[in-house]
Amino acid sequence: MEADTILRTDGLTKDFRGFRAVDGVGLTVRRGTVHALIGPNGAGKTTCFNLLTKFLPPSDGSITYKGRDITGMKPADVARLGLVRSFQISAVFGQMSVMENIRIALQRRRGHSYDFWRPQRLLEALDGEALALAESVGLAGFAATPAAQLSYGRKRALELATTLALDPEMLLLDEPMAGMGREDVERTTELIRSIARNRTILMVEHNLSVVATLSHRITVLARGKVLAEGDYATVSADPRVVEAYIGG
Ligand code: ADP
Repeated sequence: MEADTILRTDGLTKDFRGFRAVDGVGLTVRRGTVHALIGPNGAGKTTCFNLLTKFLPPSDGSITYKGRDITGMKPADVARLGLVRSFQISAVFGQMSVMENIRIALQRRRGHSYDFWRPQRLLEALDGEALALAESVGLAGFAATPAAQLSYGRKRALELATTLALDPEMLLLDEPMAGMGREDVERTTELIRSIARNRTILMVEHNLSVVATLSHRITVLARGKVLAEGDYATVSADPRVVEAYIGG
């Protein structure tokens, strides 16, 4: 594995009762880059993402992270190595404030499950770090706001903060802009850009202008296979890519 490679898949394959959704995908993600996985509907992006995050076992092939074969590993063990998928909003506690949600995530990093009876002063010891994280995702002004009262975009920002609380080296983001209006998309784009300064990001994203703005490298999937790879200018000018999107 080359020194600047952080994540690699070889021959990654997933069959669903005889239907091959992901077909021998070889993906190389370089350390410190934002790498996007795109492709028309049904291309196999979600399946691929679920294989990478260990939500699904592959039918064949392997996944290597920082030189280690993680194919058979559990998601929690992979997270401990620094490869973390962003939690879904359902993992955010609606009745709890932004600060409380981030504190819980900080405790998780330390390997504790959340203890509702933990003395308040112990929780408050994490306040400095929690506030810094809230600030880093633009939620400093919402520290005391219950998560349920945040706008959709800000909930996603909180979700990112709880993911960052685990201090990942590499983040897997599943459609970070899904369901967002223009303002939230702009804010989240800036947020991902700043997160990417010292981390590697692999994201599945439908919004191609976001992909164009953020990604260093793009892998285009179609019918479960890698169709093209390169920077945005290269893949968007590739006639096979245009054809795959139009031909759907
Ligand atoms: P994308 O995210 O690129 O739209 P998916 O990974 O969701 O593509 O799906 C790829 C193909 O695999 C689709 O044809 C889809 O119908 C099929 N597929 C996905 N999940 C399953 C499943 N659990 N069982 C059977 N077929 C599936």
